[in-house]
Amino acid sequence: LVDTSYKRIKEVDDKVHAFLTLDEENARSKAKELDSLEDTIAKLFGIPAGIKDNIVTKGLRTTCASQFLRNFNDPLYDATVVEKLNAEKSITIGKLNMDEFAMGSSNENSSFTPTRNPWNTDYVPGGSSGGSAAAVAAGEVLFSLGSDTGGSIRQPAAFCGVVGLKPTYGLVSRFGLVAFASSLDQIGPLTRTVEDNARVLEVIAGHDKMDATSANIDIPTYTESLTGDVKGLKIAVPKEYLAEGVNPEVKEAVLEALRVYESLGATWEEVSLPHSKYAVAAYYLISSSEASANLARFDGVRYGVRSEKAENMIDMFKKSRSEGFGEEVKRRIMLGTFALSSGYYDAYYKKAQKVRTLIKNDFDKIFETYDVVIGPTTPTPAFKVGEKIDDPLTMYANDILTIPVNLAGVPGISIPCGFSPDGLPIGLQIIGKHFDEATVYRAAHAFE
Ligand code: GLN
Repeated sequence: LVDTSYKRIKEVDDKVHAFLTLDEENARSKAKELDSLEDTIAKLFGIPAGIKDNIVTKGLRTTCASQFLRNFNDPLYDATVVEKLNAEKSITIGKLNMDEFAMGSSNENSSFTPTRNPWNTDYVPGGSSGGSAAAVAAGEVLFSLGSDTGGSIRQPAAFCGVVGLKPTYGLVSRFGLVAFASSLDQIGPLTRTVEDNARVLEVIAGHDKMDATSANIDIPTYTESLTGDVKGLKIAVPKEYLAEGVNPEVKEAVLEALRVYESLGATWEEVSLPHSKYAVAAYYLISSSEASANLARFDGVRYGVRSEKAENMIDMFKKSRSEGFGEEVKRRIMLGTFALSSGYYDAYYKKAQKVRTLIKNDFDKIFETYDVVIGPTTPTPAFKVGEKIDDPLTMYANDILTIPVNLAGVPGISIPCGFSPDGLPIGLQIIGKHFDEATVYRAAHAFE
């Protein structure tokens, strides 16, 4: 499997650019070691994996696709999720491309080179986990890990025609994930099938004393819920998720999926998430505020590249940050610093937090009656490289259907549900109750 993985990477990755760093020597020697074992019992024995480059890997370069960390070659520890994968004998093939510090929806904010959509390389793979989605879609690895703060697993999964899950906030440890917005970030798996996804989540989920927000709950055997049976499942379809702005092809694919669910014995009804129209605004205030604090650690002293041109200490902080961060990261730091500054805090940050509560209440109310919420993952299929990069607001609006899920902290999956006339994949989003990944997987598997 490891041979096949590197062979495929050599065939296609100069066109897809999913990988930033390969770990070939290590991976091959691990594979040899596994070959020599008699006991082959492990949940991911010998399975090749790609890891998003904002998840730290001991001794393996971790850049967050930023020039700031281009020489962060030797992280001292593995993220908890990586330790868990290693314990189940999965093999890390390399580190995957992304938007710088996970800020973006197209991978065009990678400071190295943008990843391309394997279905058509004129199109973006989505972001920020674009490398993670493209590597699975192009057959370079059997699964990957991504991170999702506002849609960064589900949106690229939709654009690349793979399965991507954002778990409930707190289900998967964030220890070793380079923080973007700590109250929203979650690590999750990207795979070809729902079953593979459930298998990987089973390995990476669970309480971790190294993450204070990690939930202490029993992890079910998710694969047991893949019964194919959705008789009596109650589906809510928010009218805001099929409203104006959602492309007709996407809407038709989702309605067709709902017809499939009906034929399997599920029922659906239209509901409303009245506050979802404020989600994008609230998200960009909250996530940028948290980012401005989290990214303060990049000062040229403790991590990454230090400017050569600095004349004194303050100048070193300034020049290292000016040279190290890209445009979009600077935009977010400035927005977040402004939103948190005294005099503006109540008007922006505090108000955004109140809106966040209203959005969570909208979901809670729906889940009193329904088992899952279904809608599209994105308003449109993948867009062309270059199409939105000069217009941050249009780019931000692309996450309108994924962001409410992060603000509410509930789990959401994207699974393929058809193609546009241009041959680009369309994603169906299934959202569940807090810690009810089992029902999300059951619904996703029955459709697949
Ligand atoms: N595209 C969104 C942003 O730019 C979401 C990113 C993410 O989920 N990491 O913030």
